[in-house]
Amino acid sequence: MSIVEFRNVVKRFGENTVLDNISLNIDPHEVVVVVGPSGSGKSTFLRCINVLETIQEGDIIVNGLSVRGTPAQVRELRREAGMVFQQFNLFPQLTALENVMFGPVHTRGVNRRQAREEAKELLAKVGLEARMDHYPGQLSGGQQQRVAIARALAIKPRLMLFDEPTSALDPELRFEVLKVMQDVAEEGMTMVVVTHEMEFARRVGSRLLFMDGGKIAEDGLPAELLSNPPSQRLRDFLQHVT
Ligand code: ADP
Ligand code: MG
Repeated sequence: MSIVEFRNVVKRFGENTVLDNISLNIDPHEVVVVVGPSGSGKSTFLRCINVLETIQEGDIIVNGLSVRGTPAQVRELRREAGMVFQQFNLFPQLTALENVMFGPVHTRGVNRRQAREEAKELLAKVGLEARMDHYPGQLSGGQQQRVAIARALAIKPRLMLFDEPTSALDPELRFEVLKVMQDVAEEGMTMVVVTHEMEFARRVGSRLLFMDGGKIAEDGLPAELLSNPPSQRLRDFLQHVT
């Protein structure tokens, strides 16, 4: 069974059609990298998966649950999808450990002791065991983003969504975040990653989507599409990002 299924999805903002009749399936363990020009609909594509945006036509099924389901089903669906944003979005008044514990305690009903143990393990996994009592303001951008990844993993999602997770970081801090994402991928997590990091797409991605004007213009193997772009649009795009 696919983890994500888009069925003829149309998303509009007013008159602006941002997702234009998209159908596709994402299977377990796929690492789908999404690229495309600014405004092509990449963030909207991700945000529709965990119902941060609502769609006008079609359906999206996530782990068997429809984005058009009842409020209770939508809450359950959201717990299947961990999301990491460009701007980290950590709670500034909570420590790294408390940020990671928050979801399990408040949305999964896990008791604090167990949540703390699991949060410590996750922070160790992203290399931040020694920083767990620091507040976001005391951490570098790369460290904050690694906390954000640990926080998303803490709810034990079936799927991880990343929206340009390294775009706000200085180049020297990107690597540590990409490394953690690679580790997560290698553990078999299903991932959808919007990024301009073509090296990551090539090395870690199992599939590349090129979005253009609200459509999936290309869908294939990263190495093939990047080495041998089949369309002028993709060639033009790649010249701008690489
Ligand atoms: P990308 O992430 O590829 O840059 P987005 O998904 O953010 O693209 O945006 C796609 C289009 O949808 C753009 O034309 C953008 O202006 C529009 N859009 C995005 N979010 C909103 C919103 N909340 N309200 C109105 N228009 C929006
Ligand atoms: Mg975007």
